[in-house]
Amino acid sequence: MSFELSQEHESFRRSVREFAEAEIAPHAAEWDKKHYFPTEVVHKMGDLGLFGLTAPDEYGGADGDFTSLCVAIEEVGRVDQSMGITLEAGVGLGINPILTFGTDEQKSRWLPDLVTGRTLAGFGLTEPESGSDAGATRTRAVLQDGSWVINGAKQFITNSGSDITSVVTVTARTGEREDGRAEVSAIIVPNGTPGFVAEPAYDKLGWHASDTHPLAFSDVRVPEANLLGQRGKGFAQFLATLDDGRVAIAALAVGCTQACLEMATQYSLERTSFGGPIGRKQGVAFQIADLAVMAETSRLLTYKAAAIRDAARPAREFKQAASIAKLYSTEAAVSATRIATQVFGGYGFMEEYPVVRFYRDAKVLEIGEGTSEVQRMLIARGLGLPVE
Ligand SMILES: Cc1cc2nc3c(=O)[nH]c(=O)nc-3n(C[C@H](O)[C@H](O)[C@H](O)COP(=O)(O)OP(=O)(O)OC[C@H]3O[C@@H](n4cnc5c(N)ncnc54)[C@H](O)[C@@H]3O)c2cc1C
Repeated sequence: MSFELSQEHESFRRSVREFAEAEIAPHAAEWDKKHYFPTEVVHKMGDLGLFGLTAPDEYGGADGDFTSLCVAIEEVGRVDQSMGITLEAGVGLGINPILTFGTDEQKSRWLPDLVTGRTLAGFGLTEPESGSDAGATRTRAVLQDGSWVINGAKQFITNSGSDITSVVTVTARTGEREDGRAEVSAIIVPNGTPGFVAEPAYDKLGWHASDTHPLAFSDVRVPEANLLGQRGKGFAQFLATLDDGRVAIAALAVGCTQACLEMATQYSLERTSFGGPIGRKQGVAFQIADLAVMAETSRLLTYKAAAIRDAARPAREFKQAASIAKLYSTEAAVSATRIATQVFGGYGFMEEYPVVRFYRDAKVLEIGEGTSEVQRMLIARGLGLPVE
């Protein structure tokens, strides 16, 4: 049993940290303030191989393990949560569904550019009327003369409207099953298809430098061959994709908590009050000790889940580990940002300190890719409880 990452993972961590501190950290505050999506940095992350860590080399990837991807997301997220989610969603929601369920033709068409960070893809599951209850999809796709004709809307879709977005995969009702429930399939919609519109970006509480849009589909026609995976399996495919995504979001949360720990420790040594550094007061020092416990626990749960995934252990075991890591790490990150801003006192309320950005960015971690309530529901079901 080992509780440490391998030397290769640690050396990879150092190289991503170096990159993140040189290319992302100095600009993160400005991008956040201007709500600017830095495509040039997406390309640089691509050049470093971050989007292709887990993809096969035939598409330009490194054929690496899932743990490496979590390390990269943690390190990017440690300096900028917006770029962290851009990487997380670019791989987890953009590349993975096509890589896992796509035909050879779909993979050769879309993956080489996605894997190298030249383009981005989104995945549209959430709709205005269905989020946690994602099976209640209202968007419809009807097969007509060899084309899918799609009508509907998607909500809160990451990486879906940037200058370099090439494609969005969406779930849609394609019919009714024998038991009367909706048949849901996933369909690939290239950017620029007539009738497909990425509406103006949201004005969000945080993640200001990430790209999130509502999407509208009005008689959007794509070839029948754009079906991703089997007809009627769209929802099941997406649930499988989400398990990886939950661990990746947990890694992003680890980066957030680690940043809080470092910022609060440093500040408590520099800031003086009552004749000495505030860090000598137990009231402050104990809060920072709590941050260390949160960072350590989140990291252990996250990399345990990643290790289960890399060892291809049973899906049931992985699902439970993924939900536990996501739930704990994201709730810890939200608490960590509250504690860190408190340590900064009034300065913790001022935008010139990065701790404020982390405070705003953290909240959505408890919401995206399955809310905390949904994670509790899944964990309880995993324990055999008949929870609805
Ligand atoms: C910035 C951002 C980026 C996103 N990116 C994407 C993306 O790329 N692709 C995509 O498809 N989606 C994306 N999402 C959507 C995200 O996954 C959903 O917002 C999330 O799943 C919650 O759905 P909802 O917002 O409809 O909330 P609802 O499902 O309406 O939930 C509202 C509240 O009710 C609770 N609740 C709902 N059902 C239950 C239940 N059964 N038991 C207990 N509590 C329950 C929820 O936990 C929540 O607190 C993104 C969201 C945000 C904010």
